[in-house]
Amino acid sequence: MSTPFDSKRRRFLNLSGHTLCASTGLLLALPKSATAAQTQVMGVHFHEDRGRMKMHLDIDSIPASFKVFKLENPDRVVIDLESSRISTLLSRELRARGTVRRIRYGKRNHDDLRIVLDVNGKPADVSGRTYEFKGTSRKRLVVDLGMKPLTAKEADKPVDAADLRDIVIAIDAGHGGKDPGAIGHLRTQEKEITLSVARELAKRLRRRKGFKPVLIRDADRYLALQERVRRARSSRADFLVSIHADAFPDRTARGSSVFALSTRGASSKAAEVLAETENQADKLFGEISVSDSSAALSRTLIDLAQNAVLESSIECGSVMLKHLGKINPLHKSTVEQAGFAILRAPDVPSILVETAFISNPREERKLRSRSHQRKLANALADGVVEYFMANAPPDTVIASHINKTRG
Ligand SMILES: [Zn+2]
Repeated sequence: MSTPFDSKRRRFLNLSGHTLCASTGLLLALPKSATAAQTQVMGVHFHEDRGRMKMHLDIDSIPASFKVFKLENPDRVVIDLESSRISTLLSRELRARGTVRRIRYGKRNHDDLRIVLDVNGKPADVSGRTYEFKGTSRKRLVVDLGMKPLTAKEADKPVDAADLRDIVIAIDAGHGGKDPGAIGHLRTQEKEITLSVARELAKRLRRRKGFKPVLIRDADRYLALQERVRRARSSRADFLVSIHADAFPDRTARGSSVFALSTRGASSKAAEVLAETENQADKLFGEISVSDSSAALSRTLIDLAQNAVLESSIECGSVMLKHLGKINPLHKSTVEQAGFAILRAPDVPSILVETAFISNPREERKLRSRSHQRKLANALADGVVEYFMANAPPDTVIASHINKTRG
């Protein structure tokens, strides 16, 4: 029987022979039912071994399966552990330095753990091996990062608060310039509303310690969707929120919605039509068509990274919906999915917010009001902050603050 996890793995192996996928064959063969107990990662250390940089993961049991592979652009080493999690006490130790620029981890397929190391330099062959220490309960997964170790100077450098980073939130104000977006009965242009709400949201996040907002556009100018995604990625965003206002021929349609990406069809016909409309921006106004821009992203990379990224997107989107629901009726009470081009960054969790229906005269008036724009920005900021307080990347000011508070 082949689980989705297995088939994905096989597909990856077929597609990229140059990437080494290491597992112990015996353990891979274990049926899933035999591994109900989760593996806990208790410690992570970096070691130099015969001129190679190695990561040691101290584990309480050998995981049912694992794989180690590298990704390029930017260079990363990825460790996937089936049915595993990181000890909450450990997160404070997960500080990046030297060869390893940044460490991230997250849940995958509900139960699995993915650890991503952003590295300085190009890894050669990467691999992993598990060890059991005879006569003790100690077990270890050793990952060869395929790179030279830290220089002595880098290794001695103490980890201090200056190494901690802010959580970067990319804020995309939909449409702009020659692309006005949807237009309301009072001639309100979507591009103006989205920019006002985006600026208000940035203002709020700038005030929060540990968060750094990045406005994808801060003027009335047109940007291709592909360029927006590129800007989010190059700012190393932890999250992208794209702000829009909905439109529908029936002027009674109302409420806020939140969307995440779907790579296999939309969650409803309406969501599909909406994604088509929002994606039109490039077809109507841009030099590059949407199909070209999506083809530019490596298919393999999308398959590999998007499960984890999508889970985070939907989780954060749900938190945002909860806060939006306090200030506006919800059009749909759950995060919907469709193939929005703006959400296609393979490694940045992203959501698209339809703040309200600009085609509904009542909601159009609300969208034009400064005070309602502020309320929307508050709701979005509250959603982002709530999500990241529970899911802060380990090398961030927020994670270190949470660890301190927990003592
Ligand atoms: Zn729009």
